[in-house]
Amino acid sequence: MPNRTVMKDESRTKKQLVCELTELRDKLSEHEALLSERRRLERECETALLKYRCLANAVGEITFEHDVAGNHIIWSGMVREILGYSEDEIGHDVNSWEGKVHPDDIQSANAEYERAAKENQLYDMEYRFRHKDGHYIWFNDRGSMQVDSEGNMHVTGVMKNITDRKSAEEAMNTLSTAVQQSSDWILIADKSGKIEYVNDAVENVTGYTREEILGNTPRILKSGRHDRDFYKKMWDTILSGQTYTGILTNRRKNGELFEVYHTISPIKDKRGAITHFVAASRDITPIRRLEERINFLAFYDDLTGLPNRALFTDRLKQAIVRSEQAEKSSGVFFIDIDRFHMINDTRGASFGDALLKQVARRLSAAVREGDTVARLGSDEYAMALNNISKYEDIIYFLEELRERLSQPVRADGEESLLTFSIGISVYPDDAGDVTTLIQNADLACQEAKQRGGNTYRFFTSGMNTAASEFISMEKRLKDAIKNREFILHYQPYWDCMTKKMTGMEALIRWNSRDQGLISPGKFIPVLEETGMIVEVGEWVFRSAIRQVKEWQDKGYPVVPVSVNLSIVQFRQKNLVGMINNILEETGLAPRLLTAEITESGLMEDTEFARTALKELRDRGISISIDDFGTGYSSLSYIKKLPVDNLKIDMSFIHELGKDPYAKAIVSAIITMAAALNLHTIAEGVETEEQWEVLKQLNCQTTQGYYFARPLPAEDFEKLLARQVNVPDAALGATD
Ligand code: C2E
Ligand code: MG
Ligand code: MG
Repeated sequence: MPNRTVMKDESRTKKQLVCELTELRDKLSEHEALLSERRRLERECETALLKYRCLANAVGEITFEHDVAGNHIIWSGMVREILGYSEDEIGHDVNSWEGKVHPDDIQSANAEYERAAKENQLYDMEYRFRHKDGHYIWFNDRGSMQVDSEGNMHVTGVMKNITDRKSAEEAMNTLSTAVQQSSDWILIADKSGKIEYVNDAVENVTGYTREEILGNTPRILKSGRHDRDFYKKMWDTILSGQTYTGILTNRRKNGELFEVYHTISPIKDKRGAITHFVAASRDITPIRRLEERINFLAFYDDLTGLPNRALFTDRLKQAIVRSEQAEKSSGVFFIDIDRFHMINDTRGASFGDALLKQVARRLSAAVREGDTVARLGSDEYAMALNNISKYEDIIYFLEELRERLSQPVRADGEESLLTFSIGISVYPDDAGDVTTLIQNADLACQEAKQRGGNTYRFFTSGMNTAASEFISMEKRLKDAIKNREFILHYQPYWDCMTKKMTGMEALIRWNSRDQGLISPGKFIPVLEETGMIVEVGEWVFRSAIRQVKEWQDKGYPVVPVSVNLSIVQFRQKNLVGMINNILEETGLAPRLLTAEITESGLMEDTEFARTALKELRDRGISISIDDFGTGYSSLSYIKKLPVDNLKIDMSFIHELGKDPYAKAIVSAIITMAAALNLHTIAEGVETEEQWEVLKQLNCQTTQGYYFARPLPAEDFEKLLARQVNVPDAALGATD
């Protein structure tokens, strides 16, 4: 084959050959030029690639090129550094990439790829990619898609390690969620005080919505409970760059007040200038409530709300101190429901609880302000009574209490009758300290229990007799009122100098069916304790006034009648009205009536007494202070009262002639009374000697057995009839 070609060539012309040769040479040089151009381009390409790789490595991120059609990925060298894989380990196809993307992120990553491929655009996504050692690294993968001249897709991308940013973001997210959802409230205001941020708690606590708060200042929560000084101190602290902590009272949208523990700090920029304020605060209303509840449970019984033993002991201690100062007594009642355990066992605890609560209410209703009722144990209650002047107070209280407790109680719609054992001890007679007082009341209560319950015992047995006497007296007095067993005796007052009768005192007696005449000292205290004195007192006024009017109408030279008034009568609603009515009924002139009130009674209730005395005085009725000298009233106090006469207590008169001090005292009283423009009456004058001394001391009026005993009306009438100025001796005592 080659030989034949040569022969053919030989047949060609030389010109043709030259032409061909020139053509060949041109082609060759053209080829060479193309070759060198290609080499140049290849070199350029290589350089560009080298530069690109250098650049990629220098950028410090992973770069890759993905020939989609060939399913081949070329990774940059940073793969090893960032992900720990060699080029072979990381793999060069899409499956090996997919296999390392976090399963939770693969779907969104693929979707973004597809979107960018479809739109022939840049893609941008974030996903986690597995490091060789197994942990995941967050990447931002950004790249572009390009289609070459042959229609093949090429992807070039940069995977940027964003783990730090992601962790920061996550931390920030956690932080902001924590702030947003914190039960403490967070409020951020700019430096002018305008609120820029509030978390959910602010909305919950204040009742304002976020929209209502933002743009406002914290003044919308102002309670008006703090003064200017308070806010000034707060702002001085914050503006000086310090954190302010303190409790503030704020107002909710609905007007309710609530307490907040505030920590307000300034936020500063890099230069140290304050840009914002942040308040981290806590609504302490629930804490306050909890505190109150804890305090309550420490000192109160949860079921009944009554003080518990600790508080009772404390209150009793205080009561004792007060009693000591006022020279009065205190009483401790220990009250136990009889057979309560049986009721509880058979009827169930909730029935028992209902009973216990009712008993608590009943006991509380029985005491006066300042007294204490407590629940000491399951069915044990205690009471501390203060300010007791006499044992009758306790006995009367006991009677009233037993009456209250004897009423049926209701539980589960059913009425039951409870009985109680009550033990009583009295300070200072039965013990000088709280523990022993309670113990003694408890012992007395146990004794009452041993007697079968439904009864009371005093720690001091003598008191039991006194109590039963009091109680029987009360019943008998009720009958006495009904049966009109009271009468009045009259005892005259004499002028010390002229020995003329200047007045008389009406004195009550109880003409008892079974015991004869009983003196007022025995029954007046029971009448006072039970309040019956009001009814009996009215009877005394009416009888005395009618009697004097009768004597006046008979033409006797009548003198004013003095009627004794107990302080309890001053507390009755219409004392003055009652006396007025009787005066009007009978037509007796008010100047013929004098009201006597004891000095100690006046001291007991000064305000009441002063008002009532003034009203009586305004009506033209005279006022005497009885038993003067026993009640420690001061001169300045007496001066303020509308008083006409001072009746010097008989204990001083009886000592006249025996005790020089008594004379000095009586003399001082008379002088003092004269200085105050008061008339003096000496009561209980029994001897001539006493009368002589009184005369010498310039006492104006006397009363006593020496001149006349209290007399029944008919005997007194005889005295009036005889119009005897000076009785020669005592005029036949009747009691
Ligand atoms: P009082 O008002 O100080 O009355 C004087 C008392 O002294 C009377 O006792 C009288 O009998 C007694 N008395 C008079 N002269 C002598 C005397 O020379 N020697 C002695 N040892 N006693 C004398 P009475 O009648 O037993 O009354 C006692 C107290 O009972 C009265 O003291 C008065 O506070 C009170 N009282 C009497 N009647 C009433 C009344 O109607 N209402 C009220 N609330 N109290 C009354
Ligand atoms: Mg009197
Ligand atoms: Mg008197």
